[in-house]
Amino acid sequence: MKKLMPKVQLKVGREKSVNRGHPWIFSGSILRVDEGIVPGETVDVLDSNREVIARGAYSPNSQIRIRIWTMDPSENINADFLKSRLEQALDYRKQYLDLRKINSYRLVYGEADGLPGFIVDRYDDILVIQVTTCGAELWREKFIELLVQLVGIEKIVERSDVDVRELEGLPSRSCIVNGAVKTEPHIISENDLRYWVDVLGGQKTGFYLDQRDNRAIVRQFAYRKEVLDCFSYTGGFAISALAGGAKSVVAVDSSKDNLDLARENCRLNNISPENVEWVVGDIFTYLRDLRDRNRKFDFIILDPPKFAPTSKHVQKAARGYKDINLLSLKLLRPGGMLCTFSCSGGIGKELFQKIVFGAAVDAGVRARIIKRFSQALDHPVGLNFPEGEYLKGLLLEVEN
Ligand code: SAH
Repeated sequence: MKKLMPKVQLKVGREKSVNRGHPWIFSGSILRVDEGIVPGETVDVLDSNREVIARGAYSPNSQIRIRIWTMDPSENINADFLKSRLEQALDYRKQYLDLRKINSYRLVYGEADGLPGFIVDRYDDILVIQVTTCGAELWREKFIELLVQLVGIEKIVERSDVDVRELEGLPSRSCIVNGAVKTEPHIISENDLRYWVDVLGGQKTGFYLDQRDNRAIVRQFAYRKEVLDCFSYTGGFAISALAGGAKSVVAVDSSKDNLDLARENCRLNNISPENVEWVVGDIFTYLRDLRDRNRKFDFIILDPPKFAPTSKHVQKAARGYKDINLLSLKLLRPGGMLCTFSCSGGIGKELFQKIVFGAAVDAGVRARIIKRFSQALDHPVGLNFPEGEYLKGLLLEVEN
């Protein structure tokens, strides 16, 4: 006999956020749960009148207990459902990205594409998947099969080696899942630049695709400038600045391996290494070092890792952001520019701007906002899911 769909009933009033389309239900909203639910299994979500209002995936160990798949209770969660969501995600990228100029982009971005816990990044002829929830994990095999079928790419790598999986009770996993993928880095193209990407060993799924548009803007403003690229990783901003005619670039990262690949990226784009200095070091120390040496720059980029993964870390993170922004503002020549980012989900746009303003006040400089940055449009943000917006940044011009 076919098993009945398990049910989860919400407390009175807790259906509101579901009805407004928010895809998460927290454990505190739940009144009653059927027994024997398998992690990731699809459940019917009931309001306090026991009406079915949505269907979602159940995560027994996470505070985010349910991720909504659909608000249509008649819709079944099966291969056809996943296929149709994947097709929509593919169509969106085809419609809005200029695929003649780039061959690497985020193909599926979890909740924003109606597929919570499932991310796919395309790097030319390789797909890198990341599965972060029990619900997406349950459908992993099906997702892989559908991707091969819909995208026509055989080479698939998995980079489910992120901390959030622990909260779901899932093990870390990083491997080749399909096709003949070389273990060496691959070349991707972005506008007229090319980059080596290590999909198996690099950070995230290999490259910071979310910064694509911002790299192009840095390129636009770098002409004849002496640039400092902090947290350079594999040199994305450094190479963009050099391609834009920067006079010189100092690129800093704590990892030598990252900078080795950055150096290769320079060579790949036929950029002369003469005007580039690659520095392995800790930014917090190195910026002080530059200050003590009285070094000055025209353009500084700050693209640090996530200092505040969640709202719990906000205070400490705010101190970190303030510190690097303050030091950088002091290293700029009059009229210089600071391009400063935060990818911390726990720090909103307004708060970030306040922190940077505080840094300017303490640095004794006045500055104007030339531009505001966010994530590239292959990382869309649902109005119903503002949590999907994590990257924010400001391009500042310091007064003369
Ligand atoms: N700007 C890059 C992405 C930066 S990711 C791009 O567009 O591709 C953050 C980088 O900061 C990582 O490469 C990491 O190695 C480096 N990092 C983290 N903490 C650091 C620190 N304290 N000092 C220097 N680099 C650091």
